Amino acid sequence: MKIEILRFKALHARVVIFPLIALLLGASHLYADSVVTRERTVTKIAEGIYVIRHPDAPDTFPQGNTTVIIGEREVLVVDSCYLPSSAREDIAQIRQWTNKPVRYLVNTHWHYDHTMGNGVYAEAFPGLAIVAQIETRRQSVGYNPGWFARFPSRAEIFKQRLESGKDANGRALSETEKREFAKAIAGIEPVQAEFKALVDRAPNLTFDSEMNVELGNREVQIKHLGRGNTTGDAILYLPKEKILIAGDLLDHPVPYLGGGYPSELVRTLQQMARFDAQTFVPGHGEVLQGAAGRAYLSEVTEFVQTVTASVSRQVYLIGNGPRNLEAVREAVKKEVDVNSWRQKFAGDDEDNRALFDGFSFPGLLTAAYAEVWGR
Ligand SMILES: [Zn+2]
Repeated sequence: MKIEILRFKALHARVVIFPLIALLLGASHLYADSVVTRERTVTKIAEGIYVIRHPDAPDTFPQGNTTVIIGEREVLVVDSCYLPSSAREDIAQIRQWTNKPVRYLVNTHWHYDHTMGNGVYAEAFPGLAIVAQIETRRQSVGYNPGWFARFPSRAEIFKQRLESGKDANGRALSETEKREFAKAIAGIEPVQAEFKALVDRAPNLTFDSEMNVELGNREVQIKHLGRGNTTGDAILYLPKEKILIAGDLLDHPVPYLGGGYPSELVRTLQQMARFDAQTFVPGHGEVLQGAAGRAYLSEVTEFVQTVTASVSRQVYLIGNGPRNLEAVREAVKKEVDVNSWRQKFAGDDEDNRALFDGFSFPGLLTAAYAEVWGR
């Protein structure tokens, strides 16, 4: 229960602060990739395999990547993104690529930015199987319908943040962030209008540790390697094409670490590194190839490992429970070289840095604390 409360807080922080649009459109960025996505892009990563990256919703909510895998008989799609209108656009594009039906839609985890388009796919492709790890089905059934009821309150939370001038972690908002809250408030109405007509669909085909799908001369392995970003994360691996689709276990350029199970995430990422993958598809951000993908995966693993180890050490020295969270947070900030990690992931990009400071680092710290506290 304690863990759940802290995780909710972390998740809440994500809803409130993430993501922020660049202050200067067209300004030169040190990193080509940004946590803010302004336009729809399609990357062909192999013959008949495409990754679609979606622009952020008008209320600034991020949308997860969608991967389309076309076999000789049928099609498998990974994650249905957030806005039903974006999912419809993807389906129209899939129909241009192939006349074969989408038979499987895999949800890598339950988060809204990867699953809200489920209903649109189910309508477009009768007989569709929505596949997920068993825990992801449980959480989708539990959390996702409630999102529609809770959705209007986001506007209220945004307004409160803007008035108080502070984010959910009590950190003062920058002028850019304040402008972005104003933009997000204005963008809520069109998103809400889309959700009014939405039919929610939870996964209807579950697995525990793995399942394989043969699409016609194309094998797809779906695996749960352990907990990490959520309790039911799935990754997909295509052994012939050496493609690994990671969901939010891996996000680029800044990892999404606003919750989850950090110490287990380390082990899960280590498992992921054992695959002979040449192409890594993150849950958000650009596709990573070869050595760059491996290097990024090990960088994220090391970061999570470093912070969780520091949290453990400081809890043993200071103590656990709600009273000590602040003291541990401060001690970890002193012990871990935060500036260098921020530079590695975010460079000098203002949006990337805002995500690192407002979501990833505090979220990782809080989740790691909840884990230690629970043991
Ligand atoms: Zn996501």
